[in-house]
Amino acid sequence: MGEQWIYLDGEFVEKENAKISVFDHGFLYGDGVFEGIRVYNGNVYKLDEHLVRLYNSAKSIMLDIPYTKQDLTDVIVETLKKNNLRDAYIRLVVSRGVGNLGLDPASCARPQLVVIAEKLAIYPKEFYEKGLDIVTVATRRNRPDVLSPKVKSLNYLNNILVKIEAGLAGVNEALMLNNEGYVAEGSADNIFILREGVLYTPPGYVGALEGITRQAIVELAVEMGYDLREDPFTRHDVYTSDEVFLTGTAAEVIAVVKVDGRIIGDGKPGKETQRILEAFRNKVEQDGVSMEAPRSEVEIT
Ligand code: PMP
Repeated sequence: MGEQWIYLDGEFVEKENAKISVFDHGFLYGDGVFEGIRVYNGNVYKLDEHLVRLYNSAKSIMLDIPYTKQDLTDVIVETLKKNNLRDAYIRLVVSRGVGNLGLDPASCARPQLVVIAEKLAIYPKEFYEKGLDIVTVATRRNRPDVLSPKVKSLNYLNNILVKIEAGLAGVNEALMLNNEGYVAEGSADNIFILREGVLYTPPGYVGALEGITRQAIVELAVEMGYDLREDPFTRHDVYTSDEVFLTGTAAEVIAVVKVDGRIIGDGKPGKETQRILEAFRNKVEQDGVSMEAPRSEVEIT
């Protein structure tokens, strides 16, 4: 793609010069928040929803983002334009900023903003055609009363451990259970199962990130006439499902065809999963903020 320009605290710098201090608490302690956002043909998909989640995550960890939602909207669009991108993945990071070696964020004068826009390296096409083989891992999802999984913070160790365990098992993705053994989510994707015509996804209290794609699929499924229920479910329910799929900004909707060695349905991506993916892709250019008229509709809290 030629030069890549990164927005780093007020200016655009080339990728090789996009560096932050070793005293940034995002680096030292994972102290910060982030979002991953997709851009489809100049439409920043569900940008307002991503910004609401970002500010809510920041509020939860008492990090005051020194920008308005409109500022962030403008920066995102400028970053896309600077990199000549209309189809992209955006990484928006707000770290606590530079402080001393102590834990206390009081030493950090100002949060640091980074925006990276890239062409997306999603799962290869064959993963969508064949579906994913996944396993359940021993690492449990953060308990909501310890470190809420709803906070999209820079502390992703829980998810990274899941990825490591998946790799050790020789697969690309894995399922995390919550502390009570109910299915929570994948390493960085939400989960849906289809059983006897009913589409299920775990409710918020089971403990997962409140995925923007998850919400879009919930709304779409209702529009499409599915019986959609937010109910807790177990691994047994997953094993005996007719279809299983994961949802996320990068993956969109991706079929799962094997879980812990149990073949799901006939071992091929399910028909309903494919219908839902198509319906999702048909709407991604409509719902969001246009690069041509970048107005954030959400109130600043
Ligand atoms: N769960 C986790 C832990 C995530 O990091 C993500 C984001 N990739 C998701 C679920 C999916 O959320 P979204 O649809 O907003 O990308």
